[in-house]
Amino acid sequence: MKLFTAKFVLPVSAEPIQNGAVLIEGDKIKAVGAFDDLAVKFPSAETHDMGNAAVLPGFVNCHSHLEITGMRGALDSVEPDFRLWLLKLNALRSEMSDKQIEAAALAGAREGAAAGVTCFGDIGRYGRAGLNALKEAGLRGILFQETDFSPDNRTADDDFLLLTAKFEDLLADATDLVSVGLSPHSPYTVGSRLFELIAQFAIINRLPLTIHAAESANEIELLEKGTGFFTEVYEKYDVEWQSPLCSPVEYLDRMGVLSAKPLLAHCVRVSESDIERIAASGARIAHCPRSNAKLGHGWAPFEKFLDAGIAVGLGSDSVASNNICDILGEAALAAFAARNRHDSQRFITASDVLRAATLGGAEALDLEDKIGTLEAGKLADMTVISLDDPAQQPVTDVEAALVFSSSARDVLLTMVNGSVVYQAY
Ligand SMILES: [Zn+2]
Repeated sequence: MKLFTAKFVLPVSAEPIQNGAVLIEGDKIKAVGAFDDLAVKFPSAETHDMGNAAVLPGFVNCHSHLEITGMRGALDSVEPDFRLWLLKLNALRSEMSDKQIEAAALAGAREGAAAGVTCFGDIGRYGRAGLNALKEAGLRGILFQETDFSPDNRTADDDFLLLTAKFEDLLADATDLVSVGLSPHSPYTVGSRLFELIAQFAIINRLPLTIHAAESANEIELLEKGTGFFTEVYEKYDVEWQSPLCSPVEYLDRMGVLSAKPLLAHCVRVSESDIERIAASGARIAHCPRSNAKLGHGWAPFEKFLDAGIAVGLGSDSVASNNICDILGEAALAAFAARNRHDSQRFITASDVLRAATLGGAEALDLEDKIGTLEAGKLADMTVISLDDPAQQPVTDVEAALVFSSSARDVLLTMVNGSVVYQAY
């Protein structure tokens, strides 16, 4: 047994504990409490004193694209136009070899571990780069196999067979730590028939789904009015596609996709009724404030999601649109954006965003029974953050110090299933 102690332990499911400790036995948490109590109760445990630091549940990054880590900075000079951004991204992807993609994915997973991330919800289109990266880095996660560009109903049955073949291939390599799901990319790149086939397959086989939804102005224009950039793309590629003339969320609901309780990434442009549909269906949201801001998509109404009772986790998105994987930075921006949006409805606290970074992410990936809090019986996924930097002093409110004065670079140690996957010294 190992007893990790530090100046602060933040179980997330309970108030921070000063001079706290977490007792780990094998891959599980056995007890959480005051160090003095646990040291007396478990005298044979090996003590690891982390000093002036905070111990938290590992961060969950519930929306990433590890396979394009090699494109960090490559798209920064593209003018702020989402269609040009997507076109440049696709051009860059086609220039990369499989080996480059694999190496980039592994570097991205290790960057996550060094940032205190213990679990990824990662989307992969090309082979098994993301899956291998998570396995090699010792991290937990769900690898979502993404669809190719497949908006035409005429090819839906063939596209579905190709997708499920890729999925089965990944599934053969799944482990206790890394499982596999599906990602129909978005309402504008996947046709209605393929969406329905994927949703039925996911419901029958109890598979996790994730979808980019309600992200850009181009997407909204296409779905609600049937006009704009994507109609030009469809014409160019001779695609048969009919606009549903409703919001992306309503469209997903009509097709029965929300019944699969998908993890919806972004949800920047959502109405009150969209939020009600998401809440009523049990679908979840991956909130990616930094990617949304960098690409100029706007601010998602984070506090409205929470008030509606929706499970919301934080996502870095790819480093091509971020440019780092720092869930503490993401948490700070989630709080800033929620406080500073013109129609913001309530004050979001440091505690709210730390919850989203941990338990919220676990709920978003349907893993809250296993991870997301420091509680007896849960798996030992943990991150330790130093509070020694001058810019963090004085630590009068540890949650505020973590969210507003700390970053990924203050992470001292990251642990998954009781095994250390990153150590700063
Ligand atoms: Zn994304």
